[in-house]
This record gives sequence, structure tokens and C-alpha cells, in this order.
Amino acid sequence: NQTGRNILNADQIVMQFGGLKALNRVDLLIEKGTVHGLIGPNGSGKSTMMNVLTGIYLPTDGKVTYGGALISGKTPSAIALSGIARTFQNVQLFGEMTATENILVGLHHTFGSSLWDILVASRSDRLYEVAARQRAASILRFVGLDDLADEEARNLPYGKQRLLEIGRALALNPGLLLLDEPAAGLTAPDIKELTQIIKKIKESGVTIILIEHHMDVVMSVCDIVTVLDFGQKIAEGSPAEIQQDARVIEAYLGG
Ligand code: ADP
Ligand code: MG
Repeated sequence: NQTGRNILNADQIVMQFGGLKALNRVDLLIEKGTVHGLIGPNGSGKSTMMNVLTGIYLPTDGKVTYGGALISGKTPSAIALSGIARTFQNVQLFGEMTATENILVGLHHTFGSSLWDILVASRSDRLYEVAARQRAASILRFVGLDDLADEEARNLPYGKQRLLEIGRALALNPGLLLLDEPAAGLTAPDIKELTQIIKKIKESGVTIILIEHHMDVVMSVCDIVTVLDFGQKIAEGSPAEIQQDARVIEAYLGG
């Protein structure tokens, strides 16, 4: 049935900033196991939607459920612990910490999975530390940063910083991962690597919401795409359908 297939349901979301409706009655149904694209012109409300889904903003109206449970109104950390992780439009890393330490910061927030519960309950700092470092190493390998584990984040090339941010989000062991313009500012080879990693994340069973302006990335990884314009949903469909849609071409793709 509907609720079983959908991991997240945002229902009639309104987000008002003073006189501006950044989101105006937007519905978003995210099917489990998919990569769901969210595209639209600058200022159309994409990041605002992500901030509503992660509890940074309390929507003016509407509600969000994740795995059938109401999450709108919960704090960002409660929502993260329930399984929604994110990256930000502007990279937010701890610059003076190494790549490994940045991943550890994400891991230390993980108390949802039984392994961590047991380790934390055992009060063995050493066992916890050994397990956490092993897990950090495996995440760094997954995002292709194993050679750079001991580099300070600020010294990594920009494309690698983006991947590290994704790694830190994965450390939360999320069911749903939100990526806000991960390809922005990347070189062509970096974008290719990012695209492969997004596909790998999907294959590992994580559902993804992807905000992205690079249409080649959207076309190659998304199963379904929602298009926003001035805070409203103007189209939804497969990447091929979206590319043909007259309203989408006029509002976004045309220029
Ligand atoms: P997008 O990510 O699609 O480029 P945003 O969601 O960042 O767009 O912004 C949508 C609209 O909401 C813009 O007009 C933006 O200026 C406005 N907006 C976003 N956040 C705030 C805020 N915290 N206060 C006031 N206006 C905001
Ligand atoms: Mg944005």
C-alpha cells in the first residue's frame, strides 16, 4: 500500500517568511529505495523544503511523517536520530579536524543501532573507540577517501570535502539521505565520482533526496523528479518526462 512504499510523506507544506511563502502547499511523497530529485530555479524553495524535513524550520502549515511517524515539530537532532541525515548547500566541516575525526563526529551521534547501544552501555571507551575507528575507516573507503584519512578537512580539495560531508552524513546510518547541491562547484571528474557514489549509496539501501542543478547528474541518478517554482510544485515525473514538460522548460530548463 501507499504508506508502506513511501518512507517520507510531506503533506501540504507551507513555509512563510514574513510576507513570502517560500513553500505554498507542497506535497512530497518519497518512495523507499529511490533517488528523488528536487529541482527548480534559485529561490524556488528547495533548501527550505530540506530545512523543513530536517526540523531546522517548523512549517507554518502541513505535516511531515517519516516511516509513518510524525516528525514535524521534532528537533533537528531527534529527526537525525530517527534516520534522516543531510549535507548542506555550503560545505560544513570541522576544518582543523582530520577526515577520520569528521566522520567520528557523525558516528558519536549514532545511538540508534544496537551495536552502539551495547558498546555505550558496556562503558568501554576503548572498545567503543576501536569500533568507531573501524567504522569510520570503512565509511572513508566507501566515499573514496581512505588515502586522505589523516588530512585536515580544510586541506582537502573542494571535491573531496564534499565527499567527506556525505561520509559524515552516512555515519548516522540513515534511512534517508538529503543532499543539497552536492555537485555545485565540482570539476567534471569530481562530478563523475560523486555520481558513482550516489548510485552506490542507493544500492546500499538508503533512500535519497537530491537537490541539484547539474541536469546530467539528475538524469543519470534520479528515479523521479519534483520541480518547484516560486514555492509550488509545478511538475513531477521521470527524468525523461520532466525534460519534456513545457512548464518546466519555461520555468527552469529553457534559459
Ligand atoms: P532554493 O534552495 O530553491 O534556491 P530557498 O529555499 O533557499 O531556495 O529559498 C526560497 C525563498 O525563501 C527565497 O526567496 C529565500 O530568500 C527565502 N528564504 C529562505 N530562507 C529564509 C529565511 N530564513 N528567512 C527569510 N526568507 C528565507
Ligand atoms: Mg538552495
